Amino acid sequence: MTTEPHSTESDVYKTLLESTNAIPWKIDWKTMTFAYIGPQIEQLLGWTPVSWVSAQDWAERMHPEDRAWVVDFCVTQSKSGNDHEADYRALTKEGEYVWIRDVVHVVRDKNGEVEALIGFMFDISERKKTEEKLLILQKELEELSFKDGLTGVANRRMFDSIMEIEWANARRNNQPLSLIMFDIDFFKQYNDFYGHIQGDDCLKRVASILASAASRSRDFFARFGGEEFVLVLPETDAESAKVVAERCRNLVFKEQIPHAKSDNSQILTLSMGLGTIMPAHQETVLQFIEQVDKRLYQAKQCGRNCIVNS
Ligand code: GH3
Ligand code: MG
Ligand code: MG
Repeated sequence: MTTEPHSTESDVYKTLLESTNAIPWKIDWKTMTFAYIGPQIEQLLGWTPVSWVSAQDWAERMHPEDRAWVVDFCVTQSKSGNDHEADYRALTKEGEYVWIRDVVHVVRDKNGEVEALIGFMFDISERKKTEEKLLILQKELEELSFKDGLTGVANRRMFDSIMEIEWANARRNNQPLSLIMFDIDFFKQYNDFYGHIQGDDCLKRVASILASAASRSRDFFARFGGEEFVLVLPETDAESAKVVAERCRNLVFKEQIPHAKSDNSQILTLSMGLGTIMPAHQETVLQFIEQVDKRLYQAKQCGRNCIVNS
């Protein structure tokens, strides 16, 4: 009889299991101890296979923020006999954390009782890093999509959202809502004379001056488009809104931005439309904006560099 060693079926399985990137393991349900854990665990986390004795070792080598829910979830799923998977941060011997996806299969005996859990741990740290990067990018994109690229103030899209919110607030709380619309006078001439680049700089400057005029935390300033800006003043009556509008005019005047081609004067000026409303059910936010826009147009008709509020 030959005694030449030959591979049994289980040897083949063992070789296969221990040569994959995923880490195989088995826990005996009754004793809650590891019957097996792949040697790859040491390479990934630094803990030797013999140090994985009980389910407790597994739970203790987990990020404290993940531990409670992961253990709770895995125990509940296992008791119900459900195969499941969980992502968590596993502690390395060096005290760092590695993102793991544990995929678990519940083995039952003839009577349907849970006998063991077998599973694979996958290193998903690269995937998590990508996901985190994507989340950051997504947030940046969200911020950008509400920001005007030139002036850095909020854009029209943000204004539309804020207006809807403040309109609903004012209606619910029976509070006045005021809106100021600004339009730079003879800005076409400004661009023609000073050039588009200086025109851009001028828009940035005006945006920053006007943004500084808002004093309350819920006051909201945005670029409406082109050389037009808006200031939303929640819980502000007509009289107070007029004070803010005058302040805006004075702030711009104080800057003395040269505008050689302005028909009014030699400095840059603004026309403003101002409205205050206690929103009622039959009115819409768009009608209100249109009304304020009409007043802005009237300000242009009346010689510019003025505020029209009725
Ligand atoms: P009015 O006093 O009646 O408001 O005249 P206006 O020339 O200011 O008005 P009009 O609407 O005819 O022109 C607005 C100008 O604003 C035209 C456009 O080239 C300029 N403009 C709009 N957006 C920008 C921008 O992003 N950068 C620059 N430099 N100019 C812009
Ligand atoms: Mg305009
Ligand atoms: Mg203009």
